[in-house]
Amino acid sequence: MKLMRVGQPGQEKPAILDADGKVRDLSQHVDDISGAAISPEGLARIAALDIKSLPELTVDRIGACVAGTGKFICIGLNFSDHAAETGAAVPPEPVIFMKATSAICGPNDDVLIPRGSEKTDWEVELGVVIGKTAKYVSEAEAMDYVVGYCVSHDVSERGFQTERAGQWTKGKSCDTFGPIGPWLVTRDEIDDPQNLGMWLKVNGETMQDGSSNTMVYGVAFVVSYLSQFMSLHPGDVISTGTPPGVGMGMKPPRYLKPGDVVELGIERLGSQRQTFVADR
Ligand code: ZN
Repeated sequence: MKLMRVGQPGQEKPAILDADGKVRDLSQHVDDISGAAISPEGLARIAALDIKSLPELTVDRIGACVAGTGKFICIGLNFSDHAAETGAAVPPEPVIFMKATSAICGPNDDVLIPRGSEKTDWEVELGVVIGKTAKYVSEAEAMDYVVGYCVSHDVSERGFQTERAGQWTKGKSCDTFGPIGPWLVTRDEIDDPQNLGMWLKVNGETMQDGSSNTMVYGVAFVVSYLSQFMSLHPGDVISTGTPPGVGMGMKPPRYLKPGDVVELGIERLGSQRQTFVADR
């Protein structure tokens, strides 16, 4: 299933994409794409509905594909070819950082270049959405806790991230630095999350053209690993790292300016399109 949220910010309705590509209203059946609705039982209830009989929605905006996200956890340097382009070694254990949940926005919303930014950069990533509380889970059972996947754009300000002291959070958490969606694609639709093409273009020019098959620490390992340090809850999102081709890795580096258009997508998970604008 492809679950989504449609409507103006703060007023999104839960919805589902039907087999003909029409967007159907789920709001008579679930409160939102969050919490119990994305538990295994909640998904089974949605799957039992006659989707084509649900009212069709006019799409004026697509919101973030999941609501109620308590944690937005990112994995750094998780692609062997991306680590190489940044000059960093692949870390011996996953590098974890947090992106503020206030950064989350819709997949096609404008992205704000923050005040003082000179190094706003792009990163297409596979987003993993948790559907069931996970604590101390093994790698073998980890996928039972994953409800599905989405495209995640880990927008980054490299100066804030690496030149302003401390951890990476400052450069990752600016408002609108977390577009997720268009859809939460349920796990049953993706047999192998470690073999998905991933791409990103800036103003039509391909910058990233990779695959999740060069991910060092795969989805099941990462979910298990994180659950050793913190419980993961329904609606939590894990952004699993980016393939090569980010602006910071270019010679000379290349960063985003107001008016730039970034398009990105992942095989079978849909695509996003953002115009970058100056924050006032
Ligand atoms: Zn990233």
